Amino acid sequence: MNFIDTAAVTIKAGDGGKGHVSFRREKYVPKGGPDGGNGGDGGSIVAVADTQLGTLLDFRYKRIYKAPSGNPGSTSRCTGSSGEDVILRVPCGTIIRNRMTGEQLADLASDGSSVVLAHGGRGGRGNSEFATSVNQTPRYAEPGTPGEELLIDLELKLLADVGLVGFPNAGKSTLISVVSAARPKIADYPFTTLTPNLGMVRVGEGRSFTIADIPGLIEGAHEGKGLGIQFLRHIERTAVLIYLIECTDPKPEKTLNILKNELSSHNISLMNKPYLIVLSKADQLDAAQRTQLEQSRFAIGNRARLLSAVSGAGVQELMEELWSYVIQSRVL
Ligand code: GDP
Ligand code: MG
Repeated sequence: MNFIDTAAVTIKAGDGGKGHVSFRREKYVPKGGPDGGNGGDGGSIVAVADTQLGTLLDFRYKRIYKAPSGNPGSTSRCTGSSGEDVILRVPCGTIIRNRMTGEQLADLASDGSSVVLAHGGRGGRGNSEFATSVNQTPRYAEPGTPGEELLIDLELKLLADVGLVGFPNAGKSTLISVVSAARPKIADYPFTTLTPNLGMVRVGEGRSFTIADIPGLIEGAHEGKGLGIQFLRHIERTAVLIYLIECTDPKPEKTLNILKNELSSHNISLMNKPYLIVLSKADQLDAAQRTQLEQSRFAIGNRARLLSAVSGAGVQELMEELWSYVIQSRVL
């Protein structure tokens, strides 16, 4: 399931600091020479690939990145301090282009790979650097050079981290819509009638993953019924699966077994994937039903969770839990 996640941001590296003009003034040194120091260099903008990130969501929250300028030089040949580099953390697999020229600046595939996208300006030289035998008292210094500024396009091809499996009406689309922080641009998909929904989930800054549902899965899908089979192959690379079952389902264990059976008939290795069982629409339960379910859910397996996409109960906890699986699989 290849989706494309994109962002466009402006980056501006720091300017170089001005060189300084000054002369030594000390007791007993009647004619001190020039001693103006150099300006510091401006900070650069650097992109670094990081496995903690699975989406470009952070760049929808912040769109302008500026690195600080270098400080001006000062007396006694003191060089101004340099501006710190600003690091843009991007998911592994991010391609970066210059928006104006279309030139590809980087394809950051592996964790920790990095590229300088905008170079900081150079600090200007102070007047102490310009003294010559002919001119021993230069009264000028260089300005710093400006830092580079550009508009960049970021693009990431995503594979879903979490696969959401459940029968029609289980609440898959609703769950995705409440946990997604932004709507992705979805690549053209060959199936027009039904497309998998992709949600990009931001658990916190620098922690994000993708969740995709498998629409149209019904009993017998592996024999060609419905449309589910077309999508099943797309969950083969997810880190974790969710079996989503309505909490009012009179026979949740049976439903779970049917779902598992469809998946294993398609590809037995899907059974080796970690999974969570989630009972949806918890807001529909009254107290008695809830108690009954809480007792019976041990029969389903002690990994069952109760969740309501409508009230939000259990949603954040589930996302945190999914994140722990996702990050484990990225580290591997
Ligand atoms: P999908 O077929 O699995 O994608 O299921 P949908 O997300 O389309 O949901 C099916 C129906 O269940 C819709 O009418 C939703 O409004 C409803 N639904 C989904 N989640 C909840 C929930 O948490 N509580 C309640 N009461 N209804 C829900
Ligand atoms: Mg749906």
